[in-house]
Parts: sequence; structure tokens; C-alpha cells
Amino acid sequence: MKTTITNDPKVAAEFIKAGEIAAFPTETVYGLGADAFNEKAVKKIFTAKGRPADNPLIVHIANKKDILLLAREITPSAKKIISKFFPGPVTVILKKNEIIPNAVTGGLDTIAIRMPSGRLAKQLIKSAGVPIAAPSANLSGSPSPTNFMHVLRDFNNKIPCLLIGPSAKYGLESTVIDCTGKHPVILRPGSITLEQIKKLDKHAVLLKKFTKLKSPGQKYKHYSPKANVKLITVHNSKGKSEKIKIKLNEPSERQKEIKQKCAFIGLDKNFGRRFEKVLICSSLSIYAKKLFWFFRQCDEDNIKIIYCQKVDEKGIGTAIMNRLQKAAN
Ligand code: AMP
Ligand code: MG
Repeated sequence: MKTTITNDPKVAAEFIKAGEIAAFPTETVYGLGADAFNEKAVKKIFTAKGRPADNPLIVHIANKKDILLLAREITPSAKKIISKFFPGPVTVILKKNEIIPNAVTGGLDTIAIRMPSGRLAKQLIKSAGVPIAAPSANLSGSPSPTNFMHVLRDFNNKIPCLLIGPSAKYGLESTVIDCTGKHPVILRPGSITLEQIKKLDKHAVLLKKFTKLKSPGQKYKHYSPKANVKLITVHNSKGKSEKIKIKLNEPSERQKEIKQKCAFIGLDKNFGRRFEKVLICSSLSIYAKKLFWFFRQCDEDNIKIIYCQKVDEKGIGTAIMNRLQKAAN
């Protein structure tokens, strides 16, 4: 199959309308989309990605009024989140309408809905004239794609269409929030933080233990580069740098070889020096934005171990640690 690569959302929309799948840019990561009302088309996403059928998709809309095409009702907790954060990097879970194909929701009676803010994603959905069901446009288990080259690496000539655009603004998947209950429950942390949601409802929580039913996606291995991912605390409680197991007293050839195969991503400038490949991030948002990109770069360079600096689990640090822990598993 030849992949049509285009920068025109109308061209990509023709594929969606014809029951085909197309990859497209969003502000979180690139998505792989199909007409959410067309079960046969949606199933092609699962086949292309190798995604387990019980891991549901997020349905993308271009207009808030389309929520009621998908959900039975908009709960008060959803209303607050939608009015504050739609369009943006946040997904709400609501009770689904009967007409939604089971393939979209993995057989659940709830549906995940997001309104992306990226210009091309919006134009694509509008031109297609239907909500677009889309997970991230990567092979199941590999790091999410933050630019179109990543999509090509996984899917060149394996999907019919790729809409190219800018690199992802956030670089992490959306914050997924269950709004079916009285208070919001964050199932997957993201760029919109628990602290921000708490400003809308002080009883909002982050679900720590994922039950199979609540959040099917969380049980799968995710986001993993080919390299081994190891999490490290750069400073211990006394403010001293932690020693990691690269023995610097090894014979120089061996030392060089080990060094070549190790990479570091984090915030600490001094710590990064001893690695072959290093990305020092000047802020947590940059860490979030660059993490998957760096994982993929490391695989290209045949890096064997990626040391990732742990961060405090607050603000966007929660989402970074969530992805790091999954990648390290
Ligand atoms: P992806 O788009 O690849 O980041 O995956 C979508 C994420 O949304 C996965 O973690 C899913 O488990 C989650 N998700 C989608 N629909 C639902 C739902 N109805 N209930 C809970 N989580 C969902
Ligand atoms: Mg994904």
C-alpha cells in the first residue's frame, strides 16, 4: 500500500470519508484516525497498530455541540472541564450513546471525547464531517509520535494517508478524565494537571490503582523505546549526586563502549556529562515535550540504556513520571 503524504486536510478528509484511516497532527501527539461511526474503518486502526481490541479510542470533535452525538449526557463535572479546557489536551469520559460502534469503546458503555486545538486537526474533522476516532499513530507499545517522521517510521506504506504538519506542541498524550461520577477522576495524567482540575472541583482525584474496567489502556506496556529505560534520582536527600552503575574505572576501551551506549535525559546539567547522548531540559514542560522524541532518537542511534531523571510528582511532573514508569517496566 502506498501512503499518500499531504499537507492538505481536505485530501486526508477524503480518506476518512471513504472509510479509510489517516494519520494527522494534533497538539498532543500524532493520531491515527477513522470515521468514529464506521466500525469497519475503526477496526483498521487496531489492525494497523497491533492494538488490543479492548483498549478503547478517543473520539475527536471539532465542535462542542458534537459531544451530544457521542454521549448520553454531559455531567456537571464534565461541563466545567469542557468549558475551561476544550479545545485542548484533555479528554473526558462520559456515558456513550447507543449508536457508537463497540470497536471504538472496546465494549465499554463509556466514551472518551476530546476537542483538539491544533489547526490541521480541526480542519480535518470539519472537512470529514464526522467525529474521528483516533489513538496515537504509533505501533502499539512504542513511544507516541510527536512529529510526522515518527509516523512514517512506524507506518510508511502501511497506512493509506498521512497529513503532515508541525511537531506536537505538548508531546504527551492528553489528560484522560472520567467524568461519569460526581467528581472528576484522572485516569491518565497529562499536560492539564490535577492541580488545574482541582481549581474547578476540589474533590478531583488522580486514580492511582487502575482497575481493568476503568482504564483499559493503563494495563498495557507503553511508550517503550528499544533501549532499556532506567529511572534515576539525581540528587539524594542530602543533595549529593547519585552514583549509577557505569564503572568509570573500567579499562578505557570498555569504558568508551559503555559510554557510547548510554543516554541521559533530565534537568541536571552536571549529571549529563558522562553520557554519549544527552538531553538537558530547561523546564518540566520541555522534558514532557521532548521525552518521546528523545526515546526515538536513542533507538535511531542504537543506544542501549536511557537513564531518565526522576522528577517530583506534582504539576506536569506527574505525567512525566507516569510515562517514565511505564517505559521502564
Ligand atoms: P491513546 O489515544 O493511544 O493515547 O489511547 C487512548 C487512551 O484513552 C487509552 O489509555 C484508553 O484506555 C483511554 N480511554 C479511551 N476510552 C476510554 C473509556 N471509555 N474509559 C476509560 N479510558 C478510556
Ligand atoms: Mg497510544
